[in-house]
Amino acid sequence: MEEEKQFVVTTKNQRFLPLSRPQEEEWTGPFFFLQAADTQVGMIANYVVKRRDYGWEQEIKWAEQMVQDINAMTPRPRFLVICGDLLDAMPDVEPAMRKDQERDLKQVLVKLEIPLVCVCGNHDVGNSPTPTTVASYRAEFGDDWFSFWCGGVFFIVVNSQYWEDGSKVEELASEQEKWLEEQLKVVRERKPKHAVVFQHIPIFLSSPDEEKEYFNMEIGLRMRLLSQLCDAGVRYVFCGHYHRNAGGRYKDLELVVTSAVGVQLGSDTNGFRLVKVLADQLQHTYYPLGAAPTHVSLPET
Ligand SMILES: [Zn+2]
Repeated sequence: MEEEKQFVVTTKNQRFLPLSRPQEEEWTGPFFFLQAADTQVGMIANYVVKRRDYGWEQEIKWAEQMVQDINAMTPRPRFLVICGDLLDAMPDVEPAMRKDQERDLKQVLVKLEIPLVCVCGNHDVGNSPTPTTVASYRAEFGDDWFSFWCGGVFFIVVNSQYWEDGSKVEELASEQEKWLEEQLKVVRERKPKHAVVFQHIPIFLSSPDEEKEYFNMEIGLRMRLLSQLCDAGVRYVFCGHYHRNAGGRYKDLELVVTSAVGVQLGSDTNGFRLVKVLADQLQHTYYPLGAAPTHVSLPET
């Protein structure tokens, strides 16, 4: 009989356990990782067919295809990051349905043969998070903010919902703020090969001066965050939430918005992004599900 694998939370005290060896702080040459967003299991029922009894078979199939694509890759990607909205049902609105979605998605994610980095989205803690919804996210998927080194690159994961609406979680929001400042100090002092941020909500979609809308961040907050990250030396921010590919630049910081593994809201196809980490830059390409390369070539140095 096949032994059933259990999903395990892989963060502890703001650390990512699968990549916690001190050797990870050293650059040993190019590598690649994968970035996905919005598996959002249950979104078709909620937003497309608008029938709560519809189920989420299709989203699970998409997630399965992603896992299959990833497990077929040589060499191995160092990790997969899913930039939020893992599930659709909000913990404060439909906790029972969320439990079922969680069980089904985890059955797929345990098949991944590489480390998984989970990022928290608005659907994962509710639009207005509370200490209870944050605690349940942490129990389900791990810390909502943490950092790790991988091959000489410093990665910072944040929970962008504290910026969207931190009114019911002021303490947590300021705790994250303080912690983020400490991580940026690490970037300034230890000077990693690259410093990269993962979050759910895009700081902007295509230009730092665009108007505020549903999918980006409020302008004052946006400019404060951009200069805070950029001044410290962060050069890449990867996001989701938009269900379309987008992105742009603020000074020498590149912001990358990746479409969904799940439901599309634009003309992209369900997929994920392959990110090559080279000595001088990160190169990234979005691939539709089933179309990612099985052999990934990297330069020697
Ligand atoms: Zn979202």
